[in-house]
Amino acid sequence: MFRAMQVVLRGEGRRAAAGGFAGHCGYSTASGSQRLAGKVAVITGAASGIGKATAAEFVRNGAKVVLADVQDDLGRALAAELGAGSASYTRCDVTDEAQVAAVVDLAVARHGKLDIMLNNAGIVGSLARPELGALDLADFDAVMAINTRGVMAGVKHAARVMAPRRAGSIICTASIAGVLGQLTPHPYSVSKFAVVGLVRSVAGELARSGVRVNAISPNYILTPLVKRILRSGTLTRAARSTGGSWRGTSTRWKGVVLEVEDIAKAALYLASDDSKYVNGHNLVVDGGFTVGKAPNMPAPAQ
Ligand code: NAP
Repeated sequence: MFRAMQVVLRGEGRRAAAGGFAGHCGYSTASGSQRLAGKVAVITGAASGIGKATAAEFVRNGAKVVLADVQDDLGRALAAELGAGSASYTRCDVTDEAQVAAVVDLAVARHGKLDIMLNNAGIVGSLARPELGALDLADFDAVMAINTRGVMAGVKHAARVMAPRRAGSIICTASIAGVLGQLTPHPYSVSKFAVVGLVRSVAGELARSGVRVNAISPNYILTPLVKRILRSGTLTRAARSTGGSWRGTSTRWKGVVLEVEDIAKAALYLASDDSKYVNGHNLVVDGGFTVGKAPNMPAPAQ
């Protein structure tokens, strides 16, 4: 099974090397439906994976995007690729509330307003996956600081500038690990359940200010984050310990493979006015993985 995954990873590496980001994703900034024309967005964790694909999708649809991340070289390169008129990069560590406030203020200073905030930066934390008794609470704190507290800071500061204009869409990247337990190490899973919880907690208050807030929960996608997990073997061991296989949690569904572009399109829907009445929702993009479980009962003795 590991051999099969290595083949997938090697194949993907070749594809990326051959086509570059634009070729890999099939994006062109020249055309698009322009569903975000005139809108201004901030994306955290924008230099890689889901954030990167969503930045490209937003730009393709006419938005001005401020890319925020801690990977400066990748962030600057992406901004250059998307075009100086459409995208800019600024460093923002979401564990520092002042930096989150600053990136929001930068978007307003540069573009006059903020319409869309995608709180997407995330880490998986330790891949050791120890028994509960050996859980490292420092690792728990580190994961919560980025995945949950960082999202809360993004919601807080986006709402600060959106509410006076009585308009805005805030999107928070959660996970299927915040829908089902046992899929990932506890800190990551808890952090993602909390993201869905915070969206539901604040949605009513924000609605009274004309601002919407929603979550997106993707299934596994082979981003740099997941490649690190696969290389560690954590996912394979976890699947085995629950009597399943990695394939049972994989993104393959009747030959369809979940890609970062699918999450970017879900974010586009929540960011655009097409979803004007959608608030407090968790948009699960998992091919139906979390909605059911096959029965595993022994046949009764005859
Ligand atoms: P990714 O490729 O690693 O992208 C995440 C980006 O966020 C990276 O550039 C990362 O930098 C950055 N980041 C980490 N800590 C940060 C901080 N404190 N402040 C600002 N940026 C920070 O991962 P991804 O798979 O696209 O994940 C994006 C989001 O989707 C995460 O919230 C993740 O939990 C969620 N998600 C992913 C999957 C999946 O299968 N890929 C499934 C469900 C949910 P570093 O590389 O330096 O950490």
